[in-house]
Amino acid sequence: MLHKVDFNRQDKLLTRENLDAYDPESESWQQQFSRRYTHHSELNGILNRVENVNETVYGKFAVSITPYMAKLMDRDDPNCPIRLQYLPSHHEETKPGFATLLDELGEEGDTIPGTSVVHRYPRRVLFLVSNTCATLCRFCTRKRMVSQADGSVHKDQIERSIDYIAGNRDIEDVLLSGGDPLTFSDQRLDDILGELRRRAPHVRFLRIGSRMVVQLPTRVTPELCAVLEKHRVQMVNIHINHPKEITPLLRRRVKMIQNAGVMMGLQTVCLKGVNDNVDVMRELFMRSIEMGVRPYYVYSTDMVAGAHHFIVPHHRMLELYEGLRGWISGPAVPTFIVDGLGGLGKLPITPTYVREVELPDGSGTTVKCRNYKGMEVEMPGLGRELRVAGQGS
Ligand code: SF4
Repeated sequence: MLHKVDFNRQDKLLTRENLDAYDPESESWQQQFSRRYTHHSELNGILNRVENVNETVYGKFAVSITPYMAKLMDRDDPNCPIRLQYLPSHHEETKPGFATLLDELGEEGDTIPGTSVVHRYPRRVLFLVSNTCATLCRFCTRKRMVSQADGSVHKDQIERSIDYIAGNRDIEDVLLSGGDPLTFSDQRLDDILGELRRRAPHVRFLRIGSRMVVQLPTRVTPELCAVLEKHRVQMVNIHINHPKEITPLLRRRVKMIQNAGVMMGLQTVCLKGVNDNVDVMRELFMRSIEMGVRPYYVYSTDMVAGAHHFIVPHHRMLELYEGLRGWISGPAVPTFIVDGLGGLGKLPITPTYVREVELPDGSGTTVKCRNYKGMEVEMPGLGRELRVAGQGS
């Protein structure tokens, strides 16, 4: 039975006994935040077969794991899908090809000088407000700023970002991200959202991307929900990669956000060894939609330094998509995306279900459609007429 563990604020849970006895709901989210594991050696007392990685890995990307996430990890299996996402591995030490890229999506090139606003699309912006997360994902696309000592988002940068958004009446969609915006206190969030709403009334859609809801669900408090509701945050996108991450505690906290009138979406990264499996994806997306969180995007792993071992080949992503479309509820099927290198943007990965083929006599085309089981039907009415060679002008 779980019970409240009476530790001082900074104590880490270094034995299995202490971790098993720990109830994440027994203390504030800030207290749990301060108990994060920050070195793989700290997990030796609670997990077996922890890889002893070279210290050079820490120079590239820090380690941070909340006790709540550590509790979800399999004690013995080094290939546990939660362990793979958060424990450093020797794969991060190698440097094949793209392995040194830190801004593979070219976000810095689209960042408005002096601000932390990435303005890539005409009417929407990404507003990076924090460089901290509760638990650091080994495949993080923003390693250049997340957990880096010199990557912090300064207060005046945030002010200038709000100035920029306020001064651009074309911007109608703002996504707060980072890092994780929910690492801020409720008061700080209240200030930023309040300023945005007050000074940029032209913003029609305000959303927050957060993995902290999943990594430290007790961050979701009545006070936080009141802030979201007060500033009419319309959507919170969470990030889950495996059905094991959808726990009863997460469901309860998601419900609190939904009760504040906020839509919720799910983002997933397609990760080799974690979720590159049709059954895992079906279960993940059905569990997600069951709790009212609409699967939105499945991203291919970005070519960021130290993440090459997670990359799932393009053809496999197409197979995974085909394993979902038609096989699970339609609203549970997300769009698969590859984020183009260097800032090309989000590009949908879609298998071909409908193809237009030329008729043998050259008079036009017909359309052939195939369903999720591979059955094909021809729909000539959808074809078009082509000029026959030698006729007309
Ligand atoms: S939660 Fe997001 S921003 Fe934070 S480490 Fe993971 S992928 Fe990176």
